Amino acid sequence: MNDKNGADVRQDQFLDVLSREDALARFEGALFPRPRRHEERTLAAALGLALAQDVAAPVDAPPFDRSNVDGFAVRSADLAKAGPASPVILRLNGETVHCGDEPRLQVTPGTATPVATGAPMPRGADAMLMVEHSHPVGDHAIEVLRAVAPGNFVSFAGSDIALGETLLREGCVIGSREIGMLAACGVAVVPVVAKPRVAILSTGDELVQPGGTLRPAEIFDTNGSIVAAAVSENGGEAHFLGAIRDDEDALWAAMSKAFAECDMLILSGGTSKGAGDLTHKLVNRLGKPGIVAHGVALKPGKPLCLAVCDGKPVVILPGFPTSAMFTFHDMIAPVLRTMAGLPARVDASVEAVAPSRIASELGRREYVMVSLVEGVDGLTAYPTGKGSGAITSFAQADGFLTIEALSDHMPAGARAQVTLFTPHVRAPDLVVIGSHCVGLDAAATPLARSGLSVRMISVGSMGGVAAARRGECDLAPLHLLDEKTETWNAPYLGEGMQLVPGWRRMQGVVYRRGDARFEGRDAHAAAASALADAACIMVNRNQGAGTRILIDRLLKGARPEGYFNQPRSHNAVAAAVAQGRADWGLAIKQAAEAYDLGFIPLSQEHYDFALVSARAQRPGVQAFLYSLGSEATKAALRKLGFEPAS
Ligand code: AMP
Ligand code: MG
Repeated sequence: MNDKNGADVRQDQFLDVLSREDALARFEGALFPRPRRHEERTLAAALGLALAQDVAAPVDAPPFDRSNVDGFAVRSADLAKAGPASPVILRLNGETVHCGDEPRLQVTPGTATPVATGAPMPRGADAMLMVEHSHPVGDHAIEVLRAVAPGNFVSFAGSDIALGETLLREGCVIGSREIGMLAACGVAVVPVVAKPRVAILSTGDELVQPGGTLRPAEIFDTNGSIVAAAVSENGGEAHFLGAIRDDEDALWAAMSKAFAECDMLILSGGTSKGAGDLTHKLVNRLGKPGIVAHGVALKPGKPLCLAVCDGKPVVILPGFPTSAMFTFHDMIAPVLRTMAGLPARVDASVEAVAPSRIASELGRREYVMVSLVEGVDGLTAYPTGKGSGAITSFAQADGFLTIEALSDHMPAGARAQVTLFTPHVRAPDLVVIGSHCVGLDAAATPLARSGLSVRMISVGSMGGVAAARRGECDLAPLHLLDEKTETWNAPYLGEGMQLVPGWRRMQGVVYRRGDARFEGRDAHAAAASALADAACIMVNRNQGAGTRILIDRLLKGARPEGYFNQPRSHNAVAAAVAQGRADWGLAIKQAAEAYDLGFIPLSQEHYDFALVSARAQRPGVQAFLYSLGSEATKAALRKLGFEPAS
């Protein structure tokens, strides 16, 4: 097989897939030790960077013997015998020392000088007496009823740090506290490890930069933004250079220029050894030794390609954004941090239980993103993954758990360590697990406004009821028709649950406007007309979807072309029809409107909630129920095309 550039693009297998540890060892072995670039930076510009050398204090801090209190500079010997029964009178010298004043008069025996907090001690004095521990006697003397020890309330010059002492050590990461210490010693510029300059290139004919407009079959460049941000987060200086088309000459020109100008080159896409995947073939041309690992036993992330060319790391991340993100954090960030002189990141982790069996591919270490909820005994970890192409999983996940290469699954009920994306897990005020609907956002908005956090996990109606039974959620939204009784939802509730009415959504046949097979017919006639035309292609829904029950009833056992195309959402059905991959399907009215399709109403679906009675009094639940009943939420639901049920 030849691609448009004439190169051989057989889908050769990853013959030598390495373990994560072996791949990292080869990569680091080829790269380190290597010298680091140093530079001088002003304090403000040094924030977050690693110090390249020890910094010694250029002055004493404090620079003079300094009073720590408002009071009087005294000679402790004068007050040695002072007590309640033996007051001592001290005469005041004719000056008051404020901050910034240099004292002129000596404190001689029997005298004292008023000194402010932070001002220098006058010659002759060896201690401070707090103003509260004295009484004025006329304008020129004080009476003292207690003794003070030598050195009382005085910070001596250099007692904080002495000239020449090490103030900060090489490798220390500069934060606000370090900046404070440096400023206190008058240091304005420090030697730091220069941020590695990291050039970032996306590759693919299908990529459009965010802000642009997608044409058919195009997608937005996600990796460019992800990698640039992740590089900055890990101490690199990110230079995003855009997306390059899958054209050998263009790619080579961009790669070689970026490589020459930077300390590290990160590409994404084109590593899968598939048709049009050129990137990895060009990497070896950049320098020696070239590719050290191509194919790592990770999931997501198998096609990762690691190279070192003339001492610089060159990385090709997998194209799928989640894969790119995981491999970056797992394998590339540690190397970048070492180059930047920064310590390895330490991620917090918590223990949680898997609610159901999680399948995993044998032979690859798999990272599964999870969303955490509080169960009856401890945390439960729900996988949020929708496949390695899905980017929203990241926003919904609290962290990830790891299934080692030698396991092909994690059993239900297993305890796993979850690595957190943030330092802490915050238990949500309201947990909603079940079928998803855009109407939910309308009902939850007032909660978010009043500072309550809501966690929504879509697992379908049945999955929600199961979660409610296990006590993992407050509410389980569902839309299930019981065919025997012809009733919605109530028959599906478990023990200890009550039904909270939600809203109604109209489902119907979607088709492209003007299609004579559907125009002007009712839903049953439209289905019959579709079945009568062998060229007519349908799009179905997944097993378990409420909509699927309606479709199977309409089809009465028929299996027309397209029956096995079973996407999991209303929008996917509408998109398939709008883009001409199918001619008809069943979806909610909002999806038809979003894609400007014709719509024939079939039946109203009941979207309600199973409320776990034992959790009904939780403030988050009360707030949600209040919102559901409010006129504002009802109006918002109607605006979205839903009919509130009560
Ligand atoms: P590739 O390895 O180039 O075949 O890419 C694998 C998958 O990731 C394809 O579906 C690409 O469209 C997708 N992909 C590649 N690069 C990007 C990117 N920068 N942003 C979003 N998706 C990408
Ligand atoms: Mg590509």
